[in-house]
Amino acid sequence: MMKIELMNKMILAKPVVNILKEHICNRLSSISFKPKLTVIFCGDDEASSVYVGKKEIACSKLGIESCTLKPQANQSEILNLIDQLNSDPAINGILVQLPLPSGVDADLVLDRISPLKDVDGFHPANSGLLNQGRPRFIPCTPLGISFLLQAYGIKTSGKRAVVLGRSNIVGKPLFSLLSSKADYGNASVTLCHSYSRDLKEICKEADILFAAIGKPALVTEEFVKEGSFVIDVGIHRLEEGKIIGDVCFERVHPVVEGITPVPKGVGPMTIYCLMYNTVKAAYLQNNLDFEELYFKN
Ligand code: NAD
Repeated sequence: MMKIELMNKMILAKPVVNILKEHICNRLSSISFKPKLTVIFCGDDEASSVYVGKKEIACSKLGIESCTLKPQANQSEILNLIDQLNSDPAINGILVQLPLPSGVDADLVLDRISPLKDVDGFHPANSGLLNQGRPRFIPCTPLGISFLLQAYGIKTSGKRAVVLGRSNIVGKPLFSLLSSKADYGNASVTLCHSYSRDLKEICKEADILFAAIGKPALVTEEFVKEGSFVIDVGIHRLEEGKIIGDVCFERVHPVVEGITPVPKGVGPMTIYCLMYNTVKAAYLQNNLDFEELYFKN
């Protein structure tokens, strides 16, 4: 596959999403049934409601069945629902939209999902497999980032990578992926968090810097090495409606070789990687070989 060229140093999702969609459609046309994703959404978080809507739209565009269930925000109710979905052979993927309301133990809920239906890849069995370098379901945001890097020909092998943030959703699985013994890994990775000291100095050493800290525009040119790549995972909606990331784009863009904008960078990749994992789940549950998307450039 030809590598995608950067335009104005921008690592944009769109051309990669198109490749991903085509791969998913090919996989769908090789099976005689429609995979089905069920989203469990509790509470009334506004941002979550937008994400759930985007997931439903992506499913319908690709021909994946989807259904959003809204149980009472009560732990035993949610656990019972997951038990039912786990044992229903018509359901291929189960996703619990985070954050869960207070009083509900997210670990207990996520641990209850059958690892073969865990399309978010948050179950300890799936994060364990990723840690061991034999991934099954890779969490959607790190997977999307990896596809972006591969598609734009941004090599990780032998490079110094710094990941800001150690969440189970982004930072830690990204660390596992980048450090794994694979073409898309083989990097020397430093994982930083809120207790890290000398953050700017550590970040300055990165050939590729990943920001997943949830702090608007915290990363400035002072954190970035000239000619490096920056991947901005953060999403923040400002009062006036503008969406920005964890990186101050205006200050960092002049210094780097490539950067993901917010929006139009990592976000759309996350949604379509969920579709990818759902189709993969349908294949695995039916003992079919799933052909992974592979960029060779
Ligand atoms: P989180 O709040 O669970 O974790 C944030 C991490 O950043 C923590 O590990 C914390 O130790 C670290 N951190 C906080 N302040 C820091 C600082 N000053 N220096 C160094 N480390 C610091 O967040 P998350 O779920 O990983 O999400 C991170 C960001 O990415 C958020 O803005 C979120 O909205 C966004 N996000 C985007 C996508 C996407 O598809 N683009 C997906 C998931 C999350």
